[in-house]
Amino acid sequence: MFECNNLTMKYKVRGAEVTALDSVDLKINEGEMVSVIGPSGSGKSTLLLILGGMLSPTGGDIKFEDKNLYNYSPDYRAKIRGKNMGFVFQTFNLIPYLSAVENVMLPLYLNNSDNRMHLNRATRALERVELGHRLDHKPNELSIGQQQRVALARMMVTEPRIILADEPTGSLDPETGGHILNFLESLNEEGKTVVMVTHDPDAAKRAHRQLRIVDGKMVEDNDHLN
Ligand code: ADP
Ligand code: MG
Repeated sequence: MFECNNLTMKYKVRGAEVTALDSVDLKINEGEMVSVIGPSGSGKSTLLLILGGMLSPTGGDIKFEDKNLYNYSPDYRAKIRGKNMGFVFQTFNLIPYLSAVENVMLPLYLNNSDNRMHLNRATRALERVELGHRLDHKPNELSIGQQQRVALARMMVTEPRIILADEPTGSLDPETGGHILNFLESLNEEGKTVVMVTHDPDAAKRAHRQLRIVDGKMVEDNDHLN
């Protein structure tokens, strides 16, 4: 599904160069649940952005389904992303003035404009995260854990095959975080590929495969334990 060879990302900051990823080789197969763990600043988010087609690496290459992802135009990459991938972020990124159900409907507008169908699909996604009774609540009328579930519902509403989650439990208490992890696990059991960045070793252990990044280098991959 994903294959990175010699993947390198150097950011330029006021003339100085920061190496965020340093010659990473990595293969991720369809249906895997992979966690990426490592200290803050080690390149985890950078890797996720590159996998998602949102950040062009400065060296090496990355293939998605055997095709070099960054040979495509940004527009076409956005299409590939919209069709295949869902994102979850630590800071939910919900739109504050929209209700829960409107937030979840948002990604559907990008495809077509059958409003009634969008409402149905968004409602079902929110029911699945047990928020069917909070459709009309705005983010600030929801608990933090509920906000993250709205973000999960918004991610699922397009039925992505691949889920890229960046510290999805980072802002949550352990119990609420546990629910989110259960949820990601159940999506993986349905066959979806999950790549989850975390700095929490317990969360990382929930994945079948753990990758460790330190200073942009892949220092551990327990792939062989599979
Ligand atoms: P992590 O998610 O593991 O905390 P990041 O991938 O966000 O790490 O960052 C890796 C390194 O790249 C850090 O040193 C960070 O400061 C740097 N970095 C990240 N994003 C940018 C950017 N847009 N511009 C410049 N440097 C960046
Ligand atoms: Mg990060």
